[in-house]
Amino acid sequence: MRMLEVLIVGGGVTGAAAAYALARRGRRVLLLEQFAIGHARGSSHGLSRLIGFAYPQRYYTQLAIAARQAWLDLEADTGQRLLIKTGVLDIGATSVPSLHACAVNLAAAGVPFEQLSAAELRARFPQLAITDQTIGLYQPDGGMLPASRCVATLIEQARRYGATIAVGVRVDRIMPDGSGVRVDAAGATYRAQRMVMAAGSYTPVLLRSLGISFPLLVTREQVAFFLARDRVLSKAGYLPVIVDHSDGREPSLICFPDLGEGVKAERHGVGPLVHDPYEPPPPPDPAENERIARRLEQTLPGFASRLVRAETCRYTHTPDGDFLIDRHPEYGQIAIAVPCAGHGFKFAPLIGEILADLAVQGTTPYDIAPFRLDRLRKQKAVALA
Ligand SMILES: Cc1cc2nc3c(=O)[nH]c(=O)nc-3n(C[C@H](O)[C@H](O)[C@H](O)COP(=O)(O)OP(=O)(O)OC[C@H]3O[C@@H](n4cnc5c(N)ncnc54)[C@H](O)[C@@H]3O)c2cc1C
Repeated sequence: MRMLEVLIVGGGVTGAAAAYALARRGRRVLLLEQFAIGHARGSSHGLSRLIGFAYPQRYYTQLAIAARQAWLDLEADTGQRLLIKTGVLDIGATSVPSLHACAVNLAAAGVPFEQLSAAELRARFPQLAITDQTIGLYQPDGGMLPASRCVATLIEQARRYGATIAVGVRVDRIMPDGSGVRVDAAGATYRAQRMVMAAGSYTPVLLRSLGISFPLLVTREQVAFFLARDRVLSKAGYLPVIVDHSDGREPSLICFPDLGEGVKAERHGVGPLVHDPYEPPPPPDPAENERIARRLEQTLPGFASRLVRAETCRYTHTPDGDFLIDRHPEYGQIAIAVPCAGHGFKFAPLIGEILADLAVQGTTPYDIAPFRLDRLRKQKAVALA
């Protein structure tokens, strides 16, 4: 049995980014993915993910700035264009406190942005239904990431740097073994000095195999694609990515410009619980398509003219909504990342670097204090909605 330097479990965007970061540093890496790269039973598939900077917590704004640079570095390394710069516009009622906190953080971090009044929003984005009580935060450097293509690019580049990527190999058991790990997967046993667990919604199952249980909850979220009455106004260049926080009481609506399949829209974090991640996802719920369409029509009248298709994807929630990125408290040779509650994609290449730091050096220069495992031991599981 060959001793590997680092074994990574999971070939979603987080595991792919960790494989890329580690292989680029010259480490001997094996990544095991139970399905195919780009499969639809996790969180990383699909046409698009938002990359923006507006967060009420300063640490996410700062990480998002560093993550954007990491995507640009990946573009330079691969010669591929990944970041589609459409701008991101957060809108909501002037009474929503988190929008004001976002504006303070954007200004403090030096992120280019404009705070727009209702009149300015109407003039700049005539597609939007804007009440007199609405404000907007427009971030010109934000945009979209083509999700499945980003994962494929990270995997391909990790391979170029020497990583081995094995698909269709499910890890059944993880056993700490001295200062390393032993892993049983698809009838074979692997030994590695270090392990990175990037298993998304399957993390609770894997943690159980280590005899640990943390309060993580998984939900199934739905996105739907619609053709607008006037397709020109729904294209990138005319329409930024919109995050409508509304009055702050109902779930946010996120909509993406039409890249050819229609405008993509989703209600953030409203999906039902997934009790067993191995249960095949049921087909998208037509009632949720209607709820998304109604909400989209309120924000962008005429944009939900025709439903094209819908798909589902998973959120993994910690009780406080913050990511989980840390070394295992008892087995420091295992680094874990669950950056999943509906906004982790944009950070992936940076989280890959952090995981590489944790796996190789045991520490990282990035501030991961809000993401430590210890805090979860004291908390109870709650879903976002
Ligand atoms: C509807 C939706 C919209 C989103 N929108 C945004 C957005 O606009 N912006 C943004 O930044 N983020 C967004 N996100 C969040 C983002 O997509 C996730 O944070 C990210 O994809 C998580 O990736 P991951 O690699 O950690 O998990 P996953 O993609 O779930 O990958 C985990 C992988 O591990 C594999 N695995 C698990 N267990 C095993 C095992 N035992 N053996 C082998 N392999 C295993 C799984 O098969 C899977 O491929 C959204 C998520 C969803 C669902």
